[in-house]
Amino acid sequence: AKVKGAGSVGFYRGERAPASDEALDLARDLRGAIARRELHLMFQPKIDAGSAQITGAEALLRWTHPERGIVPPSVFIPISEQFGLIDEIGDWVIEEACRQAHLWRRQGVRMRIAVNLSARQLLQPNLPQRIRGILRRYRIHPSLLTCEITESLAVESTEAYRLALINLQKSGMHISIDDFGTGYSNLSYLRELPARELKIDRSFVTDLGESEHAHSIVDAVIRMSHALGKRVVAEGVENQRQMEILVALGCDELQGYFFAKPMSSELLLLWATSPPDG
Ligand code: C2E
Ligand code: CA
Ligand code: CA
Ligand code: CA
Repeated sequence: AKVKGAGSVGFYRGERAPASDEALDLARDLRGAIARRELHLMFQPKIDAGSAQITGAEALLRWTHPERGIVPPSVFIPISEQFGLIDEIGDWVIEEACRQAHLWRRQGVRMRIAVNLSARQLLQPNLPQRIRGILRRYRIHPSLLTCEITESLAVESTEAYRLALINLQKSGMHISIDDFGTGYSNLSYLRELPARELKIDRSFVTDLGESEHAHSIVDAVIRMSHALGKRVVAEGVENQRQMEILVALGCDELQGYFFAKPMSSELLLLWATSPPDG
């Protein structure tokens, strides 16, 4: 028998990698979580830096565990990868995000939708076909879907990943390199990646305005991206000062608590039709 005590509460707060007993428990509970409707998506707006208009929304996965409450994706996504559950969960995320985009459009709101893809998913041989099937079913043009892939993954990764990204792009979807700056991309590698967009990692955005170092890095990343014909999104924008600096540096899109936290699909619809300052 396993002891589940107060320790596990602190554990979630800290969002560290779970002990293996804990991981086994969670993996067992995660199986069937979709059928039990314990997963849902939250949506965070992406904002055009020039017009301050919403351009789209990123879907972020939540798991409400019947006893433990909300388990953060930083905990259960790695477990789902480790235990071979990510394919099913990843498919559900894409389907659910597209279903929402379809509903929003029926309510008169047309916007881009972004989903996060994990390593394992990218290596599924028929991923582009399956996504295209889902998009067709909800009559969403592929160019309205952005696939966010973390940089470390996009880079670690060899030819197989690059080919997977190219196949997604050939299907008309947009690729975004997530958490940019935390991995090891070099310029020539970046040039070869079929990405439309780079997302500057929150750690750099957080330090903006306090560290000249962060300022120089963000400045360089934006110039480099533009030179390569890619758009730049900043994540984790939490205050006005960060926003102003990013706009001055020419960042294309912004995302973060300063504009909106992740919210339900219903709230996002309201937000998109009447943003707080407009
Ligand atoms: P990410 O893709 O880098 O997503 C951004 C994370 O930062 C989200 O955390 C979001 O809620 C949070 N965030 C947004 N704005 C701010 C801000 O201004 N300040 C701060 N402090 N945080 C902000 P979340 O939802 O807990 O997701 C964590 C990570 O889990 C994501 O990082 C992504 O890598 C992964 N993830 C989430 N949903 C999925 C999914 O459906 N599939 C896969 N494979 N991974 C997912
Ligand atoms: Ca993301
Ligand atoms: Ca990110
Ligand atoms: Ca990040």
